[in-house]
Amino acid sequence: MTALSALLAVKERLVRDGSLSKGDLSVSEAALSGMTGFKTGGRAAVAQPMTERGLIALMGALRREKLPFFILGNGTNVLAMDEGYDGVVVCVTRLKRMQVVGEKLYAACGAGLTAASSYAEKNELTGLEFAYGIPGTVGGAVFMNAGAYDGECKNVVTSVRALTPDGEVTVLSGDGLGFGYRESAFQNNGCVILSAEFSLTKGERSVIRAKMDDFLGRRKEKQPLEYPSCGSTFKRYPGYFTAKLIDEAGLKGARVGGAMVSEKHAGFLINYDGATSRDILDLIDVVKSAIREKNGIDISCEIRFLR
Ligand SMILES: Cc1cc2nc3c(=O)[nH]c(=O)nc-3n(C[C@H](O)[C@H](O)[C@H](O)COP(=O)(O)OP(=O)(O)OC[C@H]3O[C@@H](n4cnc5c(N)ncnc54)[C@H](O)[C@@H]3O)c2cc1C
Repeated sequence: MTALSALLAVKERLVRDGSLSKGDLSVSEAALSGMTGFKTGGRAAVAQPMTERGLIALMGALRREKLPFFILGNGTNVLAMDEGYDGVVVCVTRLKRMQVVGEKLYAACGAGLTAASSYAEKNELTGLEFAYGIPGTVGGAVFMNAGAYDGECKNVVTSVRALTPDGEVTVLSGDGLGFGYRESAFQNNGCVILSAEFSLTKGERSVIRAKMDDFLGRRKEKQPLEYPSCGSTFKRYPGYFTAKLIDEAGLKGARVGGAMVSEKHAGFLINYDGATSRDILDLIDVVKSAIREKNGIDISCEIRFLR
């Protein structure tokens, strides 16, 4: 049985037993190249819950049926393999609700991080300016502890509602979130992030907007936004700026097939010209080996792999 037919059977059962209405879940087969930052990757069965109830029911069924799955937000930190994925890609981008209560902003996992930043600004709340221009979802940002300039999720995310592998909805906060540099507890605990609470403070709207515009301007100036990428491919190595190391190794413009080390920002590997995921993986190896040889250190990837 293919992953798609197994997924269709799962949906049918959930609708029949009343756990789902038909509209709670959309099921299809799709090219991962259309769902990921590098714009590469083969086909997969894709489930798109339209409601949180749909997501919870689906996750319970996938675990019961032992079907492999991968949770995907905007895919802006994910490299999907050329051969596709033999399991179910659960894409949560339809779950976009946001709400402000006092100085707290609550956002569902599929809400855009940039949209959350704008929503905070409209409500005269400061603290999320750093997130403006990061192309991920709230769930992906919490999972990665995304950050830029003067901020990171760790500073403002005070609690997260999550679905545990046992199917319980739980609330994690404080040390339970396990935030570190591009790290969170969600990289190890098997939970699906449902929504996050951001604790912000009152600010003046024009000041907040000016900061957001400044950050976006710097992105446009420094980053190769005209090419598909997943942002910085590698993590910082303690004590080093990885982009600087890559630049100093003379790797700007280095190519494997259609993949290239950006000439504008050496930390970005880009899909320059019809790259395959294999090209990107091989270019990652080229960069890692060069840095190992020149600097004697092993840099690691920030991006995640859908395989
Ligand atoms: C041009 C560009 C600029 C970028 N700039 C930055 C930057 O300044 N700072 C930064 O930190 N990152 C940056 N990124 C990387 C990326 O946008 C962030 O890591 C973002 O937070 C990923 O969100 P996403 O929704 O795309 O997650 P995805 O790429 O879809 O997923 C990332 C990981 O999170 C997991 N995940 C996603 N949603 C959930 C969920 N609801 N529950 C459980 N797990 C989940 C996935 O399984 C995957 O392992 C940039 C990327 C690009 C393309």
